Amino acid sequence: MPELPEVETTLRGIAPHWVGQRVEDVIVREPRLRWPVTHALTEIKGQRCVSASRRGKYLLFLMESGATVMMHLGMSGSLRVVPVSTPWRKHDHVAITLPEGQQLRLHDPRRFGAVLMIDGPPEEHALLCELGPEPLSDAFSAQHLFDSSRGKAAAVKTFIMDSHQVVGVGNIYACESLFMAGIHPEKPAGKVTLPRYAKLHAAICEVLSASIEMGGTTLRDFVRDTGEPGYFKQSLRVYDREGEPCRQCSSLVKRKVLGQRSTFYCGKCQR
Ligand SMILES: [Zn+2]
Repeated sequence: MPELPEVETTLRGIAPHWVGQRVEDVIVREPRLRWPVTHALTEIKGQRCVSASRRGKYLLFLMESGATVMMHLGMSGSLRVVPVSTPWRKHDHVAITLPEGQQLRLHDPRRFGAVLMIDGPPEEHALLCELGPEPLSDAFSAQHLFDSSRGKAAAVKTFIMDSHQVVGVGNIYACESLFMAGIHPEKPAGKVTLPRYAKLHAAICEVLSASIEMGGTTLRDFVRDTGEPGYFKQSLRVYDREGEPCRQCSSLVKRKVLGQRSTFYCGKCQR
């Protein structure tokens, strides 16, 4: 599933191709995505894209009319800019033709992705208005984690993966950052102290930034075609390493299902 770093990398890859450019055509080959792609999308034809941004895993392209094209990659989506003559792939569902023979194509085998037109301010849209802060923004801090976790019995891992608390901390990043901070994933969120949240906050920022950086340098066409996260497998500390020695203490990495997600941790290093 594309995670926040991949979405950020996608944004950085696409923005230079689309921002400032006028849309020449809109092609919807398959409208049945997570929500139907409506005819309203064709209204962007002839319009210039004013800016491109991201909120959580939603990509936002503001058009000169004031409307915004909101895209989500769902479970298996990817966006590529290709020459317009490139043969269609089976799951290329939506294409936006840009000047100079370029075309932005949404490829999404499982069709959980979305392309929506928004008229008002995107931050007020139902899908975005309840999202927690961006993890790499000033609004996200140890104090924020501490304050919003008081009295919460939920496991700290479940808590940091809740998009109402902070966006973009997917399973892999939650496992890795909890290991880096030395916090047991099952520890109740409300029992984690402020100094430990400071470590966790730093770890989340580090792991996400590193992943964005790697995504930016290793991904061609801005997205991976392999389904692998934009994060070097060899740099993973605990994720997907069940039964392998902990890189810190050599005891074996454990796996447990928590909130329906595989959770990898070291029982010795994480308390
Ligand atoms: Zn260990």
